[in-house]
Amino acid sequence: MLKTAVVNLGCPKNEVDAEKLVYLLLKNNFQLLAEPDEAEVIIVNTCAFIQPAVEEAVDTILYLAGFKKEGCCRLLVVTGCLPQRYGAAIGQEIPEIDLLFGTADFHKIPTAIKKFLANPGQDKTSCEIGPLNYGELHSVPQQISPPLAYSYLKIAEGCDNRCSYCMIPSIKGPQQSVPLEILVAQAQQMVTAGVREINLVAQDITAYGNDLVENTQLNDLLKALSRIPSLGRLRLLYAYPHRISAELIELIAKESKICNYIDIPIQHISDTILASMGRHDRALDIRRTLETIKNRVPDIYLRSTVIVGFPGESEDDFKKLLNFIEEGFFAYLGAFAYWPEEGSRAAKFPQQIPQDLKEERLQAILDIQQSLTEKRLRAEIGQTRKVLIEGLSQESDLLLQGRTAFQAPEIDGLTYITEGDAEPGSIVDVEIHDCHEFDLFARIK
Ligand code: SF4
Repeated sequence: MLKTAVVNLGCPKNEVDAEKLVYLLLKNNFQLLAEPDEAEVIIVNTCAFIQPAVEEAVDTILYLAGFKKEGCCRLLVVTGCLPQRYGAAIGQEIPEIDLLFGTADFHKIPTAIKKFLANPGQDKTSCEIGPLNYGELHSVPQQISPPLAYSYLKIAEGCDNRCSYCMIPSIKGPQQSVPLEILVAQAQQMVTAGVREINLVAQDITAYGNDLVENTQLNDLLKALSRIPSLGRLRLLYAYPHRISAELIELIAKESKICNYIDIPIQHISDTILASMGRHDRALDIRRTLETIKNRVPDIYLRSTVIVGFPGESEDDFKKLLNFIEEGFFAYLGAFAYWPEEGSRAAKFPQQIPQDLKEERLQAILDIQQSLTEKRLRAEIGQTRKVLIEGLSQESDLLLQGRTAFQAPEIDGLTYITEGDAEPGSIVDVEIHDCHEFDLFARIK
C-alpha cells in the first residue's frame, strides 16, 4: 500500500474533487496520510483561476517537491486547474513534477501512479489533460473529510456565463450538470456516513439542469434532496441573481430543511459596470430579487460578493455600490479589489483603476459591512436557534463548536457552546447569549 498524501487548494468545488480522489485511492489500496512528510506519493489538487491562486499553487508544489530530496517522496503528482490552464508547460517549469492531470482526468491517477512506479527511469513529466468531459467523475462518491457533520455536493461543473473578468469558463469549460438521481444517491451516502448538512455548490447553482436533456431544475433537485429522512439541512451557495425564480423563493420559504441562508454574488450595482462585467443582471433586477426574497423569507441571511475598482468605475459608480451596501441587504459580504487577470477580456479594458484607489474603495465597503454584520448578529442575542454541533472547538477543547443555519462552513462565524453537551452531528436548540465579531456564544436549552 503506497503511503500517499493529497494536498488540496482552492474552493469547496475543489474540495469535492479531492474527496472523490481520496475515495478512488482508498478503493485502489493506497494508504492515505494526513501529512506529506512520510508520503511516497504526494498529490496536489490545484486552483488557478487568478494569479494569486496560481502563485500559491506553484509555491505549494515547490515546497512539496522538497520531500523528493529530503523525505520519502518518490512521486509528485499535480492535478486540477493549474495543469488544466497551463498544460505541460507546468512540467517544464517545475521538472520535479512526475505526473500532470487536468480537471476532468483525476480518476486516472491511481492507475497512472502504479504504471509509473512499475516503469522507473521515466525522465519527462507525463501529462494527461483530456477533453473536459466530467461525465466519468459525476458518479464517483466522495470520501467525506472530518468534521462529518457537513459536506459539499457539487451539482455541476463548468460555467456557461461569460463574465469579462473571469477565466473559469476557459479553464473548466461549459456547464455540465450532474444527473439528479446520482446527486440524490450521493447525498443519501453522505447522510448514511453521518452528514447532517449538505452545501450545494457549482459555479452557478441556479443554472443547474439547463444542460440536462430531461431539463431538471434546481427546484426539482431541492425537493428530491429534502425527502432524504435524516438530512437536517440544505444550503444554497453561488446563486446567480438573474436566475432566482419566484418558485425557488417559495421553496426556500416553505421547505424547513432549506437554510434561511443564500449566497448570491452580485459583483456590482451600477448598470454601467454590470454591463462591462458581462453580467446578466441590472440594478433593478437585483434589487427586485433581493426585496422579494426578504419579503417572503423575513429572517433570511443573504451573503454576497462584490468587486470594486473594475475598469471604468467612476466615483459615481462606486457611490452607487457603497449606498447599496449601506442599505443592509446582506448579512455577510465578500469584497475584492478588481484583479486584471491575464487572458480575461476585462484585463484589456481601458480606464484601469490605480491600485491605491481600489484599496481605498475596498476598505470603505468592508468598514460599512463589518458594522452591518455585527449589528445583525448582535440582534441574535436572546434568540433560540438550532445549532449543528461539529465537535470540540479548535480554539479550546472546553467548548463545543457548531453552526446555526445562517452560518456557512469555512466562510462565516461559528457558534460556541458555553453550557450543555451534545453529540457531534446532532442539531440542538440553543439560546444565544453573546456575540463577538462574527462568532456567537450559546447555551443548550
Ligand atoms: S458566473 Fe461568472 S464569475 Fe462565476 S464562474 Fe461563471 S463566468 Fe466566472
